[in-house]
Amino acid sequence: MENHPKNVLVSDFDGTMTRRDFFKLAIQQLLPSDGPNYWSEYRTGRITHFEALRRYFAEIHATEAEVLSVVDQMELDPGLPQAVAELRQAGWKVIVTSAGCDWYIRHLLAQASVNLEVHSNPGRFVPGLGLQMEMPAGSPFLSPTLGVDKALVVRHHLEQGRTVAFAGDGFPDEEAALLVPGSLRFARNDLADVLKQKGEPFQPFENWSRIARQLLSIA
Ligand SMILES: [Mg+2]
Repeated sequence: MENHPKNVLVSDFDGTMTRRDFFKLAIQQLLPSDGPNYWSEYRTGRITHFEALRRYFAEIHATEAEVLSVVDQMELDPGLPQAVAELRQAGWKVIVTSAGCDWYIRHLLAQASVNLEVHSNPGRFVPGLGLQMEMPAGSPFLSPTLGVDKALVVRHHLEQGRTVAFAGDGFPDEEAALLVPGSLRFARNDLADVLKQKGEPFQPFENWSRIARQLLSIA
């Protein structure tokens, strides 16, 4: 049943399942304030999104315990475990797609005792070398610029004839979001702004478990 779901919710992680993004917290709390601005280099097209995050993460010199305390500040939606369980019962499979790093995603999901399919960039913490993030080599959903191609994940399930919903909050979420109907397109922050500018319909959300409630009321 789990492997052949009728309905799939493809969800971003940072800022979507959590209140805050890991890379933003890392910049604020773990990196020197006078360091290079890799994010603006990404936004102006000089480096890829993957490369910007990879460079930030590799400059973290804090201890693993200090980094994990920052991970905890991301605040996974406390209603997520129950919402995932209710979605499962109603025939929805939840799939995490993230252009961030699976090291902190798996940490937060394990802490909440939630087991989900995750497509993200593999990484490991190495004292002195920071969070070493790599491309997900061998993934069928590989993107050379983001690591993980969320739109390919959405397309894969659409091609299987499934109902697909998407939830996200960032610029890299736009292509995947536009593949699903407006009633199943959940957005906030940068993604919501982009969709508004383009006149594309979407469902705003404040926390992730509200998305689940809305999907359950449709079905
Ligand atoms: Mg995000």
